Amino acid sequence: MLKAFVIEPKSRGKLCCKECDLTYTHRDYGILYDAGKLMYIKYKKTTYCNICLPKVAASTKETAIKLVGVDGKTKTMKFWYNGE
Ligand SMILES: [Zn+2]
Repeated sequence: MLKAFVIEPKSRGKLCCKECDLTYTHRDYGILYDAGKLMYIKYKKTTYCNICLPKVAASTKETAIKLVGVDGKTKTMKFWYNGE
C-alpha cells in the first residue's frame, strides 16, 4: 500500500500543493488544519493538499493510502477516482 505523511503545521514558512498551487503559510495552515479543513500531505517527497492527493494516487491504480498522522498514528485513506 502507498504511504503518505501528514505535514505538521509549524510556526514559519509556507506550504504549496504541487498539483493545484494552493499555498498557505504554516501559520494559516495550522488554523485550517485544527479546524479539520485542510491537510497538506507529503507523498513521494512532494507536497500535496488533501484534495489533490487522491487524484495523484489514483493514477497509480492504488485504491488506498496509508496516511501517517502528525501523532505517528496511521489510518487508511480510501479513494475512488473516476479519472474524469
Ligand atoms: Zn492541491
